[in-house]
Parts: sequence; structure tokens; C-alpha cells
Amino acid sequence: MLDVTGIGFGAANLALAVALHESEAAGRALFLEKQKEFGWHRGMLIEGSSLQVSFLKDIATMRNPTSDFGFLSYLQDKGRLVDFINQHTLLPSRIEYHDYLQWAADRLNHLVEYGVEATGVRPVTDAGEVVALDVLAGDRVVARTRNLVIASGLRPRLPEGAETGERVWHSSQLLHRLPAFDERPPRRAVVVGAGQSAAEVAAHLMERYPQAEVCAVFGRYGYSVADSSPFANRVFDPAAVDDFYFAPPEVKQSIMRYHGGTNYAVVDEDVLRDLARRQYEQKVTGTPRLRLMNASRLVSVEPRGESAAVRVEFLPTGEHTELDADLVVYATGYRSADPAELLGGVGDALRRDAAGELLIGRDYRLSTTGDFRCGIYVQGATEATHGIASTLLSMVAVRAGEIAQSITGGRRDPDRTAGGRAVAGNRG
Ligand SMILES: Cc1cc2nc3c(=O)[nH]c(=O)nc-3n(C[C@H](O)[C@H](O)[C@H](O)COP(=O)(O)OP(=O)(O)OC[C@H]3O[C@@H](n4cnc5c(N)ncnc54)[C@H](O)[C@@H]3O)c2cc1C
Repeated sequence: MLDVTGIGFGAANLALAVALHESEAAGRALFLEKQKEFGWHRGMLIEGSSLQVSFLKDIATMRNPTSDFGFLSYLQDKGRLVDFINQHTLLPSRIEYHDYLQWAADRLNHLVEYGVEATGVRPVTDAGEVVALDVLAGDRVVARTRNLVIASGLRPRLPEGAETGERVWHSSQLLHRLPAFDERPPRRAVVVGAGQSAAEVAAHLMERYPQAEVCAVFGRYGYSVADSSPFANRVFDPAAVDDFYFAPPEVKQSIMRYHGGTNYAVVDEDVLRDLARRQYEQKVTGTPRLRLMNASRLVSVEPRGESAAVRVEFLPTGEHTELDADLVVYATGYRSADPAELLGGVGDALRRDAAGELLIGRDYRLSTTGDFRCGIYVQGATEATHGIASTLLSMVAVRAGEIAQSITGGRRDPDRTAGGRAVAGNRG
């Protein structure tokens, strides 16, 4: 019997593993990860790309600045602390951040089973009460646990009806798929989307394939810059989670509307300026290769032998353009994995609101019926209840501390509190 089982071992559950590791009351924990080894968005570890959040928002520091799992301890351990300081940046490269997470994951290797994909959960009952949960991988029980923490990350989002194939895929596949094109580089690539990934993919394709034309198709008039200014950035603060969680629905909606530009369909200023510089330089040299198809809509993509026929509509006039493309990359974002997909086996015990959405406590614990003695927690898929930081790195350390506290405190006191505030919607 485990005290905690985590599904997924990405940044969020890694932060939880660190918090549990540092907590004396943690008990026995195991994390299940479907990848064969640790990996953080490996398909997008583009050379030159950087983290979009301060390294101080690593997996431990904001919860415990003296943790030896912080980014600075990693640098010290790797002998690069001074060199990093000399870089004068808060934003390490994505490749380095992956190495940091890998370093932390390796130190907690005894808590993880890689290559195990959880597929469901089954209740274990005693005298009419659910006292434990069996975690399933197919028909195999891989863990029996008192608490479950689902942190299964993001899923690629594709336009409705989009079909993928050898030449048409989501940006999350970028570095896995491109080697197949290196021998016969694409003459023309289409990148759909206007967010950070789209801009990074467009820049990378131009860099990697110096002869290729890159057509960037998006509905906006231009790429827009991500708002990372100091006041707006407060929407990612721990205190903002309390404000958001306890706010009425219409206030939640307006906060998301006002501050979507900190994260959604926006591009970091340095990446955006780099693209603009490249495009201008291409104009100067008479070799235009970045073709912005702005205010446009992708109408269709049809495989045609060795290429794909891509039809694009320019929205102001309705004019259609057909492109013969060797490659189409959908940089159309992600959605959170739905925790309910794993929870069919305990579905009756989960309380829902009038709209049928799972009720989630401030401490990220799903609200359950009275005879349910186990804790089920969700990290990531809580944007609607806990705000815009949910899917990001900003809160992983603090949130992990709150969940660890809820789990360890929860065993003593069923009416838990998190961060000194009453837990709402979690009285089961
Ligand atoms: C390219 C890219 C760059 C990003 N950069 C930033 C950034 O700079 N700053 C920022 O704040 N956010 C960033 N993000 C957002 C991203 O969500 C976070 O960086 C972070 O990965 C969230 O951690 P997580 O643990 O919730 O999800 P993930 O890191 O995705 O981890 C989820 C893990 O669960 C595993 N898994 C899923 N289902 C199962 C299952 N059924 N059984 C077992 N294992 C399972 C997956 O294999 C995965 O390893 C980025 C996202 C992308 C795609």
C-alpha cells in the first residue's frame, strides 16, 4: 500500500516528488511515467530556444529556497554556476532546463517507474468505504494507493478534422520528425499558428533548410508579443491562485480574457524580433523566404504524392491560394489531458457541478462522496478553477508543497486547509 501514487512524471509531479522527498511525513510514494525515460517536451528542444519563465520558478525554490533541488544547486553540481551568472539572464535555454529536470529526476529515480502508462483506476473497498485505489496499466494493477496525483500534462491540439501523416504533423513532433527530411530538405513548409511554438518552428525551419520557403498561416494580422511585464506577470503569483479560485465565474472569465496575452497565441519579444529581422534581411537581399499569410485561414490540406496541397483563404478578401508544400506543421497549441479519462472506475464517487465539471478543492483535491477515504489530486488540468498558471511552470513548486501538505495533513485531518485558507468544494 502506497501513500501517494503519481500518474505522469513531468515537471509537476517531479516537483511533488521533491516536496514529498523533503517532507518527513511523506510516507511511500511511486510515480508512473509512460515515457521510457525522463523527457520534457523533447520534440521542441530547439537549439537557441529558452525558458519562458525565471529559473527561480524552478521545481523547488519558491516552496523552499534552501532546497538542494533548486536550479542553482544543479548549476553548482554541474560546475557551471559562475558561467551561468556571467550570462546575466534569468532564462536558461530549454536544453539546459531539460538537463536540470533530468538531473532532479535521476536523483529521485527510486520513486519512478518509467515505461508504464496508467490507463485507469479501480476502487478498493472495505466495509462499504473506498479505502484505496488500484492503478491499472491495461489489466495489470501497477499500484495500490491511498492518494493519487494525476499530472498527465498537455495533449497536442489540432484543428478540427485535421489529419496527420508523414508530412503533416503537430509541432510537438518537430525534432523527432525533421531528421527524415534532412536528406531531401523541403522546398516549401507551411506552419499553421501564431503562438510561441509557431514562431519558433518557422525560425527553426528557415535556419535548418536555407533554401526552403516557410509560409506562416494564421488568423491574426501579425504575431503578437507575450505580455511579460511586471504587473501582468502577477497573474502567475501564488496569491493570484487564491484570488482566482475564490472569485465568481464572471470574474474568472474576465481575468482569463484580460491576461490571455501572457500565455496564449503570443510570442516572446526576442523570438518575434528575430523573425522580423530575418524577414527584413531577406527583403534586402532579394531572397524572401518567410511568407506571412496573415489574416488567413487554412481551408484544407490534401496529400498529393510526395507533397501536400494546402489551400489558404485570405480573410479580408476571401481569396484562396493553393500551395504545394513538402511539409505542414500544425503549431496549433495544446489542451490539458482530461483527468476524468483515467477515472471512469471511480466516476460515481466524484462530485460535479451543475455543468458536469469535476469539483476541485483549493488544494487540487477532487471532491468525492462521503464513503470515499482516498485523495485524488489533479495538477495541470485546473485552469478553469485555479487560473492561468495551472498548465505552466510558474506554480509547480508552491503547488507541489500545497498538495504534499494536503496529503500529509489530510491523513490526520479530513477537513484540510491549504495555505491557511479553507478548502472549498472538498467536504466529501
Ligand atoms: C514546448 C513547450 C515549452 C514550454 N515551455 C514552458 C516555459 O518555458 N514556461 C512555462 O511556464 N511553461 C512552459 N510550457 C508549459 C508546460 O506545460 C510546462 O512546461 C510543464 O511541462 C508542465 O508540467 P506537467 O508535469 O504538468 O506536464 P508534462 O511536463 O507534460 O508532464 C506530463 C507527463 O505525464 C506523462 N503521462 C501522460 N499520461 C500518462 C499516463 N496515462 N501514464 C503515465 N504517464 C503519463 C507524460 O509522458 C509526461 O511526461 C511549455 C510547454 C511546451 C509544450
